[in-house]
Amino acid sequence: MTLRTIDPSLLERSDAALASVVLDRLGLDTTDTFPVNDPATEQLIASPPNHSIADALTALDRADRAGKAWARTTARHRSDVLHRAYGLLIEQKDRLALVITREMGKPLAEAYGEVQYAADYVRWYAEEALRPSGNYRENPVGGSTILTTRAPIGTTLLITPWNFPMAMATRKIAPAIAVGCGAVVKPAALTPLTTLVVAEIFVEAGVPEELIQVVTTKDASGFSRALMSDERIRKVSFTGSTGVGSVLLAQAAEHVVKSSMELGGNAPLLVFDDADLERAVEGAVIAKLRNGGQSCVAANRILVQSGIADAFVEGFTERMRAAVLGNGLAEGVTLGPVIDDRAVNCFTRLVEDAVAHGAELRLGGSAADGAGHFFEATVLDRVPESSEIAQTEIFGPIASIARFDDEAEAIERANSTPFGLASYVFSENVDRAFDVADQLDAGMVGINQGLVSNVAAPFGGTKASGLGREGSGEGLEEYQEIRFYNLARR
Ligand code: NAD
Repeated sequence: MTLRTIDPSLLERSDAALASVVLDRLGLDTTDTFPVNDPATEQLIASPPNHSIADALTALDRADRAGKAWARTTARHRSDVLHRAYGLLIEQKDRLALVITREMGKPLAEAYGEVQYAADYVRWYAEEALRPSGNYRENPVGGSTILTTRAPIGTTLLITPWNFPMAMATRKIAPAIAVGCGAVVKPAALTPLTTLVVAEIFVEAGVPEELIQVVTTKDASGFSRALMSDERIRKVSFTGSTGVGSVLLAQAAEHVVKSSMELGGNAPLLVFDDADLERAVEGAVIAKLRNGGQSCVAANRILVQSGIADAFVEGFTERMRAAVLGNGLAEGVTLGPVIDDRAVNCFTRLVEDAVAHGAELRLGGSAADGAGHFFEATVLDRVPESSEIAQTEIFGPIASIARFDDEAEAIERANSTPFGLASYVFSENVDRAFDVADQLDAGMVGINQGLVSNVAAPFGGTKASGLGREGSGEGLEEYQEIRFYNLARR
């Protein structure tokens, strides 16, 4: 693969954006560091502090202290601060997008999209902070009035993955702050830089310096156990793999810490014979290639009804072929690098295994030579259920297509996974679309579209995809504790 030329002034601006990141926001003068590399070039781009467990506990002291004072501020004040933060995030979108692309790899246009999406959570929770959240009931047998209120839960531990380094951070930080909680935030070791910029901008907007404590560590094991065994942590919100989520849930269970878990997915995308072909192809490409397929809601199993299958596969393959692979900073690139070498090796293995089991390789299938972690947009058709790719979360630019004959078979296959995050249905028959959607065991269903996420929607999954919801009003409640007052009445 030959890299497209990168505008030197853009490279210079992205270097300046990286240089502007304050790596040691905790100011603990930690001498140990770890490397953060650009996945497109494998070059070192920053060396943030490798905070120890003792550092994390210092961060907890501060977030807890600041959180207690913050909880006593008015909702109007917190809302105003969040509105200011939204304005500043948008004002600094160039800087944020460049940092996202350099540390995570996604094409710059998608990084701008993430900045807007991430900032939208901040604006949404600036507004939600003001909505009434109490309740009033008369005791049914008389004698008292019951008032229900929602109080901030206390200090929170927020752990985020590398694939959406900004959106996953604001989706947790904004509701926590909106209701009056402090936060210890641990971004993924592969992409800690964006979170550091976000924290800086929150402080610029008026969030107390100590309220959001960003702990950067290379090795997270041990860290969450130490924090969760401290009784001041009252809530853990995690986005990442199901394996790590289970470990965290066990730790949370030991100390009875309220938990939200946004975990892995294995989204089915169902295309019925009566789908609008153009719409289905477009939706499937978006659901597959957004973020290079490195998304928990990515279409992981594309299931197409036999009558439309040949036309769909042809149209879909042509659209996948149009993806332009390269450094996310280069003009015209629509598919960036994947996150690391481990991912590239895994994709090579998955494609080989699928072909060995009888799948037809229609497009791509290979890693690119040279520096950077690149894998081609790939289409596999007639993928048998016995192949590994039909069972696993791919998390990359490989489309796995299989065919089905009738509705019952489609639903049965769609649900035959331990996961239940997103799913997609394409059919022009409204009755069928809703009927099938009702029977899918998933937290989210995209109907005739390949994008499900929205700040106003309760994002989250069923089964091994997690517990709790983020975004919408439901996302706010995850950071609140219910309390009632029972007032005696004559
Ligand atoms: P990961 O589970 O490896 O890591 C996520 C975070 O957990 C990172 O910050 C990591 O450093 C930290 N971590 C790892 N081990 C830990 C431990 N023992 N204790 C505490 N923290 C620990 O996941 P990833 O590779 O960063 O992200 C990819 C996964 O995330 C995929 O499975 C994807 O589906 C999932 N994901 C889910 C959602 C969702 O909303 N459901 C969104 C994005 C990603």
